[in-house]
Amino acid sequence: TAAAVEELITPQVSIRYTQNLINGQFVDAASGKTFPTYDPRSGEVIAKVAEGDVEDINRAVSAARKAFDEGPWPKMTAYERSRILLRFADLVEKHSDELAALETWNNGKTYEQAAKTELPMFVRLFHYYAGWADKIHGLTVPADGDYHVQTLHEPIGVAGQIIPWNFPLVMFAWKVGPALACGNTIVLKTAEQTPLTALFVAKLFHEAGLPDGVLNVVSGYGPTAGAALASHMDVDKLAFTGSTDTGKVVLELAARSNLKPVTLELGGKSPFIICEDADVDKAVELAHFALFFNQGQCCCAGSRTFVHERVYDEFLEKSKKRALRRVVGDPFKKGVEQGPQIDVEQFEKVLRYIRSGIESHATLECGGDRLGSKGFFVQPTVFSNVQDDMLIAQDEIFGPVQSILKFKDIDEVIRRANKTRYGLAAGVFTKNVSTANTLMRALRAGTVWINCFDVFDAAIPFGGYKMSGIGREKGIYSLHNYLQVKAVVSPVKNPAW
Ligand code: ADP
Repeated sequence: TAAAVEELITPQVSIRYTQNLINGQFVDAASGKTFPTYDPRSGEVIAKVAEGDVEDINRAVSAARKAFDEGPWPKMTAYERSRILLRFADLVEKHSDELAALETWNNGKTYEQAAKTELPMFVRLFHYYAGWADKIHGLTVPADGDYHVQTLHEPIGVAGQIIPWNFPLVMFAWKVGPALACGNTIVLKTAEQTPLTALFVAKLFHEAGLPDGVLNVVSGYGPTAGAALASHMDVDKLAFTGSTDTGKVVLELAARSNLKPVTLELGGKSPFIICEDADVDKAVELAHFALFFNQGQCCCAGSRTFVHERVYDEFLEKSKKRALRRVVGDPFKKGVEQGPQIDVEQFEKVLRYIRSGIESHATLECGGDRLGSKGFFVQPTVFSNVQDDMLIAQDEIFGPVQSILKFKDIDEVIRRANKTRYGLAAGVFTKNVSTANTLMRALRAGTVWINCFDVFDAAIPFGGYKMSGIGREKGIYSLHNYLQVKAVVSPVKNPAW
């Protein structure tokens, strides 16, 4: 496979949009600056993109502010908003091959995954939130005394949204879908590694009838454009997905500026627990998928594979064989399961963690090095004999590195699985209902997948316990992030003044 990586397929898509989209117009950065964006298969520059900074964020926020305060968006009927979301979803569906190709080109994920899983997920999510738009309403409240009391569920205002590079389109959908369904306006900052697909879909949104200023997309770096958005005095709400370290920074920026409420979706070190009664072949396949999916670049990756001692040896042997069979190569090629890591920083970070695993005396079963000589490909890597206190068992590696740990009984594995600063997700593999129920209740994580992994329906809430984040996205829960509740109280009968 190493040779196959060197020969690259030319993507069947052109790059049409590279400027910032502010107030319905594509515009250059205020500074005139651009920054390069890359093809992770080769490390070559594929486009230069407008580099947003403080001034661009200011312009985008004032467009969003105007569209919220004066513009048609929050004042439109919910049904009209819902129809624009539906028309947008249809347009994305129509362009989905092109969008999937652009996503693969800029991110390195397999074309098959982008086209067959992520684009349909994107479309489904907008259908889901289009359905909510005209079903958001408050309550009448039975208060003591002679009062008529009601709550109004109003949009919160201008939402600032900062997204990562691992699922550029899916993250766009999770953030933009609920915010627009609730009637808010948005300034979205994409990750500097993957600015291209968001600009394309934002253009389609305007073709679907979205009024100018409702959705503004700014490309740029975190400490400049991202920080300007997080600390802006006229942004009413901030939603962030990324690393735990950066999450702390943006929370602080939000607090120091105008105390805007913040939702955070951060890192993880999710346990995947294989119990003694497991069908080993199936467990191997699922644990492999849980870790290696998307080049291991998932915040919820099953990155601590806990295996019961009774099935450990067989599981290990088969997991190693499965990793050696994993097809790594050009993500545009059919049958390829794994493309390159996103960029040189992540690539080097993954290789550093592999070295740390070796130095801490975990057993390297397979992989352990780069693949080919160009781009950011990493061999599927499996470590056995991993101990809880090793760095590879504690830190988020965000790469194709599986760590296998042995356990003896359920109480022990519960304790060890929870002994992490993270709490994003967990997986359980067992046929025993009592074991499944016991684990499901004891694991301190925002999602527990039982006999499955990475199931991301639009209706299922997602988010973290502990240092994996604050709040939930998707489903009904995401609506709360984008609404203010106003209590309205009046005496039933006018008092006699
Ligand atoms: P990673 O380390 O995986 O790149 P980050 O958390 O740094 O993850 O990045 C996620 C998003 O946060 C990106 O859009 C990035 O530009 C942005 N970001 C990074 N640093 C900051 C910052 N200081 N303020 C605001 N946003 C930031």
